[in-house]
Amino acid sequence: MAKLTILSLALCGLLAIVFSGPTKVNNVYEAPPCDVDACQLPSCRCSSQTPPGNLIGPNVPQMVFLTFDDAITVSNHPFYEEVLFNRINQNGAKIAATFFITHEYSNYSLVHDLWARGHDIALHSITHVSDTGYWANLNESMWRAEIVAQKQQLSTFASVPLAYIKGVRAPFLQVGGNPMYSALVGGGFEWDCSRPTQNQRIPGLWPYTNDYASTQDCQIPTCPDEAFPGFWTFPMIDLIGDDQFPCAMVDECTPVPMTQAATYNLLMRNFENQYNGNRAPFGVFTHAAWLVGPADRPEFAQRKAGYIQFLDEILAMPNVYIVGISQAMEWMKTPTGTADIDTFVPWLDDPNRVRACPFPRNCRYENSTWERFMSSCIPCPPEYPWVHNPQGTNLHYDD
Ligand SMILES: [Zn+2]
Repeated sequence: MAKLTILSLALCGLLAIVFSGPTKVNNVYEAPPCDVDACQLPSCRCSSQTPPGNLIGPNVPQMVFLTFDDAITVSNHPFYEEVLFNRINQNGAKIAATFFITHEYSNYSLVHDLWARGHDIALHSITHVSDTGYWANLNESMWRAEIVAQKQQLSTFASVPLAYIKGVRAPFLQVGGNPMYSALVGGGFEWDCSRPTQNQRIPGLWPYTNDYASTQDCQIPTCPDEAFPGFWTFPMIDLIGDDQFPCAMVDECTPVPMTQAATYNLLMRNFENQYNGNRAPFGVFTHAAWLVGPADRPEFAQRKAGYIQFLDEILAMPNVYIVGISQAMEWMKTPTGTADIDTFVPWLDDPNRVRACPFPRNCRYENSTWERFMSSCIPCPPEYPWVHNPQGTNLHYDD
């Protein structure tokens, strides 16, 4: 009898484990608390301030993300060339930044150039409508129209293979809760980097998958609370400005640094919190407009000099690597200590990024109220590409 009870209990335990996935409540799958035994790499990781792979302290490579939001243009591309193209990591590979690209005003032959040079091409919507309420209330179908359709759009005009486009940042960091994440998962995306954290800065919150409920604070509601197995969130760990206020994007930190020294100090002080701590990835999330400006405004050149000084100093520090977020995701799946990191293939230069935009076209569109230019790697479409007409062919598009 006792044996039978134990067997029953064991069976119940087994059934409980089998059925411990997401529970459906009111037709919604709410993510359960994370089960550290069931949630294992490479496919699953609980939200945590502990580095993955049982790595500790100096054995953890310090990943640094340089990200830039919005359109790639002839105005900001020279800045990327100057700052990013000739710097290398200690493994001998080129450093990689992550670009969150909006369709409007983007020059797709320059997008192709950034991709061919090894940078991470991610998406930031077709329209970038400047009303956060629009993004907060967007339904799943419209997230597909703004982001999922943008993947095919960018792939077409910038000649970037679809398989390279994996990540997203919501405009204004205004995440759209479950409808947004559901659209991204359905659209084949693998990660999002839109959610700031103030509460898990030191030690920093490591990236995690959304199989289970996360412990991350929701700074800009609405955050997803359903389970999205295998889909990664890369938290934006807030920086602290000189006035001690938190800032998710460095160009929101106050007071805005006006000198090289102030810029360098802001970046290095925040970097050291992670580098001397649990080595959660450190992000310098910004727009080129923070660093590129008119010649009669010397603070732009000062900030750029401080930014470059910061890059050169961290690249000379042990175990620091400036990588794209998609490269970091591969590391998260297969955590690799500093002893073996220089042969970690996803962080080496990618030989498959072959240039395929030999004859860029300059497309021009106008109506009575506006004019748009678009450089394209393929012949100009008849219409200016836009939401619900992402290829500019003016055919019905099933979003
Ligand atoms: Zn933006």
